[in-house]
Amino acid sequence: MKTEIIAVGSELLTPDFQDTNSLFLTAGLNSIGLDVSFKTVVGDDERDLARVLRTALGRSRLIFCMGGLGPTEDDRTREILAKTLGRKLVYHKDIHARIRERFRRRGIAMPASNLKQCYVIEGAEVLDNPNGTAPGLWLNKARCKVALLPGPPREIRPMFENQVLPRLAALGRGLMVRRVMRLTGLGESAMETLMKPVYASVPPGVTVTTLASPGDLSIRLTYKGAGPRAAAEALLDGLERTIGNALAPWIYSREGDTLETVVGALLKENGKTIACAESCTGGLIGHRLTGVPGSSAYFLESAVVYSNRAKTRRLGVPGTLLTRCGAVSAAAARAMAIGIRKTSGADLGLAVTGVAGPDGGTARKPVGLVYIALAHAQGVAVHRNLFFGGRAQVKFQSSQKALDVVRKSLTKRSKKVL
Ligand code: AMP
Ligand code: MG
Repeated sequence: MKTEIIAVGSELLTPDFQDTNSLFLTAGLNSIGLDVSFKTVVGDDERDLARVLRTALGRSRLIFCMGGLGPTEDDRTREILAKTLGRKLVYHKDIHARIRERFRRRGIAMPASNLKQCYVIEGAEVLDNPNGTAPGLWLNKARCKVALLPGPPREIRPMFENQVLPRLAALGRGLMVRRVMRLTGLGESAMETLMKPVYASVPPGVTVTTLASPGDLSIRLTYKGAGPRAAAEALLDGLERTIGNALAPWIYSREGDTLETVVGALLKENGKTIACAESCTGGLIGHRLTGVPGSSAYFLESAVVYSNRAKTRRLGVPGTLLTRCGAVSAAAARAMAIGIRKTSGADLGLAVTGVAGPDGGTARKPVGLVYIALAHAQGVAVHRNLFFGGRAQVKFQSSQKALDVVRKSLTKRSKKVL
């Protein structure tokens, strides 16, 4: 059953807004075994939208069209779809009463501009919208089913889950189960080499795809076919074990979690706190760690110590050490990790210092050279790294490696050390 998504809104064609709704819809569709074949983003332009709708009606059996159901002048998706289908818009007094009541509760009269939301395309079922004024619509056109949904994420999400998914389930689709394994610390070609023997043992109905970016890789396992779900899960469990055996040291999540989420969970589980001293990452590690809800349980602080003076004043790194060895050196990283651990009182002191580029590299200390140190009760471990790429990539890879150093220090094998 060809499925397609159309996101309507001129703002989605600017650099400022993203069509995130379609990702959410795709996840829901995948979970009931439906693949998305086409996605279109189109502006609030009558001719463009009409053309996109005609194309969709000609090639897909399931069409999800969202956005442009609001009260403003540029919201015309309902009208344009009606025209494209050659159907009338019919006034619904129940919808009118509901919208009026919604405004009344807020103590205001219903604006005239909302009146157009009371019109329903002839023959369509109304999808109630408890979180906004614009109702959704569900209709059949020949062999096609079309869902017309509101744009605001807080409106479309519950409507899709509570009113659209049950209608789709009734169409009786197969099953799709997906797993995402995430890895760091090895390159794409190295991963492919290790995966070669795994590919030979992929069971029928399962596809394996890999995705790599500097410092972060993922392996997606997808089962598509008949139920029951438990059998599909067991099939993926087996494959996941095979991949685990081949790539264990680099796998940080089998549930698609981010590295900072995994590290956060490990810190919490081990009852440890952490503080960071960040030079070339400029606070990125702290930003990532604090992006995880509940991070206040283990994250104490991140000091952005960019200049030599800051390293000395904030962390007590001796000025003579910085002059002798340089700010980008194993000795500086070690002293920074010890300094932040001591001054913050954290169990773990994590420090990063490196050359992010594009300038500042020398033959002995090239761009991408980054030292990462982790201080704990038993001592300090320092790692020398050479990362490739531009400034942003070097910064990201530094934060990734630093978090991975923490992860490894907290996983079973080395737990005794801390
Ligand atoms: P509209 O229904 O076109 O008036 O859109 C209302 C709000 O929903 C606007 O703030 C849009 O930016 C947002 N919105 C519309 N479509 C999408 C989409 N595909 N993904 C995320 N947000 C959206
Ligand atoms: Mg819009």
